[in-house]
Amino acid sequence: MEPTRFDLSGKTALVTGAGRGIGRACALALAANGANVSLTARTTSQLEEVKAEIEKMGRRAIVVPADVTKRAEVQNVVDRTLSELGGLDILVNNAGIYTMKPLVQDPTWTSGYSKFVPNFDTPFTEEDWDALMDINVKGVFLFTQAVGPHMMAQRKGKIINISSIDAEHGLKYAAAYCATKGAVKAFTKGLAREWVRYNINVNCVGPGYTETPLFPWVYDDPERSKIAAKNNVPMGRFAKPEEIATPVIYLASDLSDYVTGESIYIDGGVLA
Ligand code: NAD
Repeated sequence: MEPTRFDLSGKTALVTGAGRGIGRACALALAANGANVSLTARTTSQLEEVKAEIEKMGRRAIVVPADVTKRAEVQNVVDRTLSELGGLDILVNNAGIYTMKPLVQDPTWTSGYSKFVPNFDTPFTEEDWDALMDINVKGVFLFTQAVGPHMMAQRKGKIINISSIDAEHGLKYAAAYCATKGAVKAFTKGLAREWVRYNINVNCVGPGYTETPLFPWVYDDPERSKIAAKNNVPMGRFAKPEEIATPVIYLASDLSDYVTGESIYIDGGVLA
C-alpha cells in the first residue's frame, strides 16, 4: 500500500524496534516521505535490510543496536543519530513485547489457548511482569528522556508512542500487557502538557490486531487467522503494518502541529 505523501524532507527520525513489523513499516514510510532514519533494535541483521531499502530511496539511514531498557545504550543511539545524521526531529517509540498467560492458573479448567500459545500453562511470573514493564514502558521513558534536551533546545519535536487498543479495551490473558499500554497512553498525556512550551508534540498511535511476528500463533496459521479476524474485528481482517505507519507519518509531519496528547487508534472498528 502506498502511504499518503507528507513532506518530511530534511527531517531525521529515530525508530525503535525498526527491524520488523510495525517499526519497519514506520521506518520505510518515514523515509518514503523524505526523512533520514536512525534504526535501532537489539540485533542488527534485519535493521541492515531496512537500511538498504531506505538507501535505495535516496535517504540516509544508520543502524545502532540497543536494548531499550539500557540507559547507556539508549543514549548511544541518540548521540550517534545526532552526530551521524545531523539532527533529531521525530522519535517513534515502537519496540515492545507481548505475553499471553492467565494471571493465576486454574487447575480445574483448561483453555483452548494452551494448545497453541507458547508457555500458556506456566504461571505468570514476576519476571514476565518486569520484562513487560521494562520494555514497553521504561523503554519509552528512557528514549524520550534521551531525546528531550535536543528537542527542547531546538524548540520543536514529534514523539510518537506506539500504544495499543489494549490501552482502552481489556484483553483476557494479557492484563499485564494492557497495563503497559495504558501506562504509555497516560505518560503521553502528561508529557504532552509538560513539553507543549517547547513545541514538542507527544502522541500515541494505537494499533489494533496487526499482522506482525508479535502473535505468531495467530498470524502464522492462515485458517486460525481468518477465524480470529472474523470473530474479533468488525472489518473482518487484521491490519497490515503499513496501515499503522500512515498515522505515524501524519503525526511526524507539520500537518499535525495542533495535535498533542492524543491517541489515534487504527483498528478496523474494534473500539467502535
Ligand atoms: P514485533 O515483535 O514484530 O516487533 C517488536 C520489535 O521490538 C522487534 O523489532 C523487537 O526486536 C523489538 N524489541 C523487543 N524488545 C526489545 C528491546 N528490549 N530492546 C530493543 N528492541 C526490542 O511486533 P510489532 O507488532 O511490530 O510491535 C510493535 C509495537 O506495536 C509494539 O509496541 C506492540 O506492543 C505494538 N502493537 C502491536 C500490535 C499487533 O497486533 N501486532 C497491536 C497493538 C500494538
